[in-house]
Amino acid sequence: MTVYFDFDHTLFDTRELRQAIARIFLKGGVTQAAFDETYKELAYGVGYEPSAHAALLAGQWRDPAAREQALKEVSELMKSGGCYVFEGVTELLKDLKSKGHRLVILTLGNLGWQHAKIACSGLEDLFDRVEVVPGPGRKAPRLKEISGVDELATVVDDNPGELQAMMAMRPNFRCVYFHRPVNPYPNPGCEEVVSIAELRKVLIG
Ligand SMILES: [Mg+2]
Repeated sequence: MTVYFDFDHTLFDTRELRQAIARIFLKGGVTQAAFDETYKELAYGVGYEPSAHAALLAGQWRDPAAREQALKEVSELMKSGGCYVFEGVTELLKDLKSKGHRLVILTLGNLGWQHAKIACSGLEDLFDRVEVVPGPGRKAPRLKEISGVDELATVVDDNPGELQAMMAMRPNFRCVYFHRPVNPYPNPGCEEVVSIAELRKVLIG
């Protein structure tokens, strides 16, 4: 079986990373409100990336050195390794690999930043393939390109809209909606899990 995993909020605690970046930016003079507003602007627009975020906050920095220092600290943060992976994820992926399953990351966002997060997670070597698509609605067409119509596969994602589009493209694939507690969206008609332990049960038994 191939398992196509979403990355953000599915395997990787993007909210925790966002808070860590906010702490660094706020030390440089940025207000929480300005941080949040510009974060969303990027995340729901062209894709989040810290230096683009710092540039959007141009009038907020105490001085240019504060901005440079903040970006340096974010860069250091991303070198820490094993970062922001939800508990149980690494073990689950290792167990899936040892059972012979093929593992793929199918994620959307800024190309460089997605790869930086995946490198930081320490999970990269467990995947047979990493696919970063640049924006909303692009996952389903990419899934169609990289998968076979008769493939035995499961798709795991916390985004119901993306799941729905992928299932329209590959209706024979098993789909798993990772319903994070903070996520208000309804299940698009997939199996539903709320924890890595439940996901393990669905994928391994
Ligand atoms: Mg996600």
